Amino acid sequence: MTHSSRSTTLDAYAQRFQKLKADLAQIEYFSKGTLLARMVRCGKPRCACGKDPSKRHGPYYEWTYKARGKTVTVRLAPEAAPFFRAAARQYRKLKTILNRLETLSRQALAKLAKDPSSRSST
Ligand SMILES: [Zn+2]
Repeated sequence: MTHSSRSTTLDAYAQRFQKLKADLAQIEYFSKGTLLARMVRCGKPRCACGKDPSKRHGPYYEWTYKARGKTVTVRLAPEAAPFFRAAARQYRKLKTILNRLETLSRQALAKLAKDPSSRSST
């Protein structure tokens, strides 16, 4: 491997790193957690929900997440559910970007560790 091809690789890492940082800047409000839409039985003896699962009431939305090892459940208005669904999606996106940034960093650092002088040629 020649010195120039090695530095080209480092350039490529740097470019991919910049691109991922730009993706990171696009992140909106995020939260780790799960959105649940629950269909429930009311318990009234004559209500159809008791026998027919399709006649259950709801959906009732709940947002659950873990805080200090405990599961926290928050009831949500139906109108609020989309915001939490989006926040969960943003969280997964954030984790994906961070994982890619770390993998990329490790590869670039390994390259630099082998040949520290290659950095100056970028
Ligand atoms: Zn009912």
